[in-house]
Amino acid sequence: MDAFDDAYDVMDDVDVVDDMRALATEAVHAGRDDLARQGLHAPPIDLSTTYPSYDSRAEAARIDDFAANGATLDGPPVYGRLGNPTVARFETALARLEGTESAVAFASGMAALSAVLLVRNAMGLRHVVAVRPLYGCSDHLLTAGLLGTEVTWVDPAGIADALRPDTGLVMVESPANPTLAELDLRAIAHACGTVPLLADNTFATPVLQRPAEQGARLVLHSATKYLGGHGDVMAGVVACDEEFARRLRQVRFATGGVLHPLAGYLLLRGLSTLPVRVRAASANAAELDRRLAADPRVTRVHYPRIGGAMIAFEVSGDPHEVIAAVRLITPAVSLGSVDTLIQHPASISHRIVDAEDRRTSGVSDRLLRLSVGLEDVEDLWRDLERALGAARGSGPARRVAPGRPSRSVAAEG
Ligand code: PLP
Repeated sequence: MDAFDDAYDVMDDVDVVDDMRALATEAVHAGRDDLARQGLHAPPIDLSTTYPSYDSRAEAARIDDFAANGATLDGPPVYGRLGNPTVARFETALARLEGTESAVAFASGMAALSAVLLVRNAMGLRHVVAVRPLYGCSDHLLTAGLLGTEVTWVDPAGIADALRPDTGLVMVESPANPTLAELDLRAIAHACGTVPLLADNTFATPVLQRPAEQGARLVLHSATKYLGGHGDVMAGVVACDEEFARRLRQVRFATGGVLHPLAGYLLLRGLSTLPVRVRAASANAAELDRRLAADPRVTRVHYPRIGGAMIAFEVSGDPHEVIAAVRLITPAVSLGSVDTLIQHPASISHRIVDAEDRRTSGVSDRLLRLSVGLEDVEDLWRDLERALGAARGSGPARRVAPGRPSRSVAAEG
């Protein structure tokens, strides 16, 4: 036993070095640092919905404490809605990858965004300033005011002027869904002043961009996408400072958008390959970007300056025929899986956005969104090429400079 204790003393010393671990190392070790001490290799899955305790007085004190400050409970969570040890491992790992103090996981990306809005609403800060495009349902949640918020849509340059005393949030996506328009997050965070900036980092992942380092107070993910990475988990997460995390936990407890522990396990496992998956898929995407840009049937290609595995492109022919003709590539909404998916944003992911708003934010009716996976790039190109051939009409290829879509793109519809 002494030998074990000595060994663990040494491990405590090693913890000092942990702050310097690289992202690839964090991806496979964060949230798992205690496992070896417990004699485990794979993280345990705790499916408990409730936790026995013979000391009700102590439980009362812990519940009072949580209600007052939302801090993670020491010891078992009392009840599954207050927290879960397997989900907590994923939260710890994601916070390490995003470089934030904390992270709070939810049942989906939309549940995560809803919790952020509810936190700010509860403080009387119901006004949101947002930059289009956003993912269609995020746009819809804000536009429809389903949670009692009021939104002002602006260009990035208009953020500072749009802020009001009751502005509770500024929300952006970069690269944006689906146009892949990129924003200067540092400049935007500066324009926000004391208003929290929420950056949706679903497309970039912390492998390519860490918005908190650029001043975003809240980093949101649809973890359904790259973090899970295999198309079999629905989840959302907000990486942020501990102060905001406490409010989010209180809202999660009271509204119930919790993540299932099995999903927490799969996400933790997904994170361990995140850097490798994102880099390999990005290399495929960069090659497809080059080939699409040179193809006469493709009129525009949007590919982010920071890279990534998402491509948006406009075709001169009928985009629906391209979708109908793919065979290896899966014609489906969503993204970030090991396999390649294609979808038509105007019909699916952004259908719920008003057609005029869609077009003025660069989501033309001829735009297709490709989530590039890990297949061999030659096989992907063969499928894409054939599918492009199935769409009637052609035109000269024109490459769009990286960055936000030009007005001429927006006007085309
Ligand atoms: N944010 C982005 C950028 C998305 O693409 C999505 C979903 O497609 C969401 C948020 C919502 O996430 P979920 O579908 O997990 O609720």
